[in-house]
Amino acid sequence: MLRTTGQSDTAKIVDFSGKNAGLVQKIAALKAQDTGGNSSQDRFNKALRTVAVLQTTLELEQLTRLFSREVSATVAHSSINYCNRSRDIDLTVGRSARYTRTFRLIVENQELGQLTFSRGKPFTHKDAALLEFLLSSLVYPLRNALQYKNAFQASLTDPLTGVYNRSVIETALRRETSLARRHKTPLSLVLLDIDGLKIVNDEYGHEMGDNLIKAVADCVLQSLRKTDIFSRFGGDEFAILLSSTARRGAIVLAEHIRKNVEGAACMFGQHAIMATVSMGVASLASKDSDKTFFSRADAALYRAKRAGRNSVKVARAR
Ligand code: GH3
Ligand code: MG
Repeated sequence: MLRTTGQSDTAKIVDFSGKNAGLVQKIAALKAQDTGGNSSQDRFNKALRTVAVLQTTLELEQLTRLFSREVSATVAHSSINYCNRSRDIDLTVGRSARYTRTFRLIVENQELGQLTFSRGKPFTHKDAALLEFLLSSLVYPLRNALQYKNAFQASLTDPLTGVYNRSVIETALRRETSLARRHKTPLSLVLLDIDGLKIVNDEYGHEMGDNLIKAVADCVLQSLRKTDIFSRFGGDEFAILLSSTARRGAIVLAEHIRKNVEGAACMFGQHAIMATVSMGVASLASKDSDKTFFSRADAALYRAKRAGRNSVKVARAR
């Protein structure tokens, strides 16, 4: 079964499950064929060395780089691209060249993505066979690295909304405060709290309250840049850290978010719930620590609630 992936290359599907599972079986097969000649003994040693090297990292780019280095002694190439669309991964080590050879990797019914080798001259059938053999040493370290990436991502993410969790914003706050001070760049913080969530919980149930938290997070996300750090800080409270953003820009953004949430009826089956949010905005002052920076935004949020909710208040300058 072949799948076209470009101009001249086709992705060869390589399933390492079952009878092809892993290197151990491959090595056993090689040993069985071994007639004492150097070449299969060399391949055997090389494969073992590659396995040992690849087990030293769980980081995908590093893994691809190490694999490229190991492969280059056997099959010359100028780049390797690893692409896994379902996980939004597309990374290249080396410099891409004209001729490519692509392998789609599968292990135990799990798609691991595609690996494309490139170089300035065509790959021969023998090269392709060698690459396929060497790939068997990559699949399990690659699967481990993907699982590690998933677990790491989950440890940073709030499961209800999919945005960052509290630990991320706390770390980011310390890091960005010190960076902003060092580079003399502006930094702003918006704290946002949903108005009257308890009433929604009481009238429609906790699940509806959860839905509303998620809907508000989605609505806020639409107004943000990629560089803004958006996290669910607590129950119905969110924090948005805006690097390179001064007071005025932060106020404009907060007002924009307030209007967007106010104007969006959150539909849950038959029910339409009109949510509003209150926000406190602070911009980093020279005397601020990360803690005073946060508490000034919090105090502004408190004033926004006291002022009747559905409003934005700005922390006083220090
Ligand atoms: P306010 O306008 O003053 O913010 O009123 P509020 O009702 O939103 O109350 P407050 O922000 O002080 O407290 C948040 C409430 O939201 C407390 C709790 O009942 C509820 N809550 C906290 N976390 C969750 C959650 O994960 N899911 C749901 N459904 N409700 C939550
Ligand atoms: Mg609230």
